Amino acid sequence: MSAVCYDVAAVNSIAKIHQELDLARPDLIILGGGFSERPPVDICAELVRDPRCADVPIMMLVPPDSRLAALQAGATAALDPDVDDQILMARVRGLLRETEMPQAAPMGMAEPAAAFVHEVRPLIALVADSHARALRWRQMLAERMNCRFEIRDPDEALGSVTSGRTADLYLISGDIRAKGDGLRLLSELRSRQGSRDAGFVIAIAPDRSDLAAIALDLGAGDVLFESLGGAEGADAAAMSLQMLLQRKSRSDKRRAEVQRHMVWAMTDPLTGLYNRRYALPKLGEIVRDALIANHAFAVIAIDLDHFKSINDSHGHSAGDVVLVEIAGRLKAALPSTGMVARMGGEEFLAVLEHCSEAEAQDTAEALRRAIQVRPVALPGLCGGGQVRVTASVGMAVVQPSEEGGWPEQRAQVALERADRALLAAKAAGRNRVMRSQPDWAA
Ligand code: GH3
Ligand code: MG
Ligand code: MG
Repeated sequence: MSAVCYDVAAVNSIAKIHQELDLARPDLIILGGGFSERPPVDICAELVRDPRCADVPIMMLVPPDSRLAALQAGATAALDPDVDDQILMARVRGLLRETEMPQAAPMGMAEPAAAFVHEVRPLIALVADSHARALRWRQMLAERMNCRFEIRDPDEALGSVTSGRTADLYLISGDIRAKGDGLRLLSELRSRQGSRDAGFVIAIAPDRSDLAAIALDLGAGDVLFESLGGAEGADAAAMSLQMLLQRKSRSDKRRAEVQRHMVWAMTDPLTGLYNRRYALPKLGEIVRDALIANHAFAVIAIDLDHFKSINDSHGHSAGDVVLVEIAGRLKAALPSTGMVARMGGEEFLAVLEHCSEAEAQDTAEALRRAIQVRPVALPGLCGGGQVRVTASVGMAVVQPSEEGGWPEQRAQVALERADRALLAAKAAGRNRVMRSQPDWAA
């Protein structure tokens, strides 16, 4: 392991394990025999409960008859101590790959996963080299796992991904119809959006252990014999599948959590538009791309007119309704390549990535009209009725030939120019578009 540049600490007593855990959190623990103090399975159970080992995968090297006990004690994987080096290393790589998944909630913002998710029993797809084998698998596993099983041929397994009927776990023969085609199916499923996060187990014939290391490197979570260990081994096989399902469910939740954080971070909760935090760096990127491509870009600042009086006469929640409605209209009126954000209060910003003066002018005018075109209906809870809403709009088109320094500085100047044009629109009587004049840049 050191030869492939893993940082390895080898210890041979429980006291030394604790010393190491005090020093640093390991990425992986490989637990073999050779401890005089306690059976390794007991040590594993202790480590699983140790907070210093939270989320650290534990690989146990135990003889086949202790495999089930190791998994029950909480080992992430249980391998034969005589396992081939290549397979051992492939398992190590697989376990380390998983710990590299993004961890949610760096700032303690984690929330429990949404409670409305229905408890649905996990679906296991069985893709075997014969129907008889698939039936045997189903029978052995159904007695031991509370899951749904579907017997699929390779084409059905792939097709069901396209139709959104992805399984949570795939148990696949290494050789289905031809030598090694199970591994090809594994790679295919791992490369597709819908199924890449499922669990995978490859089942091999006893004389095909050459497939094991490859399967693990292709992303299989485990490799079992196609007999699933027969009557004695079936409990361990089922346990192993069960653990992969649990791992998948955990990583699904983690992914959803990361996704939620991303959405929270970049959107305005009231209107669903991008917020200022997202829009400003994004504008910097748009400016950089425009410079590289030698295109003009446009910045359009929009501020609702006399919005305070809407709040004053209809109430704050009516004001909120107006903001939501206007946000929707702005989004609909903007070309799909444009970006619109709520910068705060009743102020919005639209950015056009690549446009001529005339296109920017047309878009700014279209945005203004979309606000004015019909009054906003207020719901009964806000007193009903309608309010007329208008906005003043300031626009700046920046040509690549203009001087202006770094993209961030150019973005800043563009914003200031659009703001100044907006103020001019207010001063000139509101409900109009004003274009920034280049000599306002200073
Ligand atoms: P002007 O035409 O000069 O822009 O006048 P205005 O009344 O629109 O501008 P002003 O800046 O005086 O007032 C903006 C108002 O927007 C004040 C504030 O209470 C209100 N506001 C800001 N954020 C929200 C919000 O999220 N919801 C509601 N309902 N009102 C908001
Ligand atoms: Mg304002
Ligand atoms: Mg205003």
